[in-house]
Amino acid sequence: MASLTFLGAAQTVTGSRHLLTTASGNRVLIDAGLFQGRKELRLRNWAPWTSGKLDAVVLTHAHIDHTGFLPRLCAQGLVRRALCTEGTRDLAWLLLPDSGHLQEEEARYANRRGYSKHRPALPLYTAAAAETAARRLEGFRYDVPVEVVDGGQVTFHQAGHILGSAFLDVRVDGKRILFSGDLGRYGTSVPVRAKVVQMTGFSAHADWMEEDRWLARAPSPPDRVFLVHGEPPAIEAQRARLSAKGWRVEAPQPGQEVQL
Ligand SMILES: [Zn+2]
Ligand SMILES: [Zn+2]
Repeated sequence: MASLTFLGAAQTVTGSRHLLTTASGNRVLIDAGLFQGRKELRLRNWAPWTSGKLDAVVLTHAHIDHTGFLPRLCAQGLVRRALCTEGTRDLAWLLLPDSGHLQEEEARYANRRGYSKHRPALPLYTAAAAETAARRLEGFRYDVPVEVVDGGQVTFHQAGHILGSAFLDVRVDGKRILFSGDLGRYGTSVPVRAKVVQMTGFSAHADWMEEDRWLARAPSPPDRVFLVHGEPPAIEAQRARLSAKGWRVEAPQPGQEVQL
């Protein structure tokens, strides 16, 4: 039986990492995200990796909270293949080395100020290591099934979040598992009836209503829904809304494993 283990973005936003283990023992990591924000979260990036070698890492999109742990895994020789869309690959070639550069800068700063208990403080990974990892990414087109492991397929579908972003339709052991990744506002057009003078920010994230609309496109209610990538109050609110529709909704804890 296949199982799913929530290694990150469980009861928190960042560190998206979900380990899918097939009945025959193949291991596919969906997203390899960096924990970001509070120190307690960032420290989790340094925890030893205890989930073994990965037959494949499949990325939903290029944001660092979904990809920024890949260089660390690659540097340890844990990754056989890394797959994503063509757009994600192109963006990751820019973003991952930049993330490595920031890690190096942080280590340099810690050494200069002497605030790390490690001497010398080391970067989580370097820009060079990140570039090596980024070059390993295989880019695929949308809507075409890709054989990821023996008997396991993934299809990338447009998620409308950022360039290259996808939700994943995974078929394994007779099961169909959708990983939403981050959903955007695909298909929504907003007429602008003003001159745009300055735009300092724009959320590329769908709100819960847009999430509901996306879920409503399912031809039949899913057997189970797992809510991740949110702070506990937001997760709980969405869990209550979906449960009220009669759906079986779970909000996994970090490290929790479920049988599919
Ligand atoms: Zn994102
Ligand atoms: Zn995200």
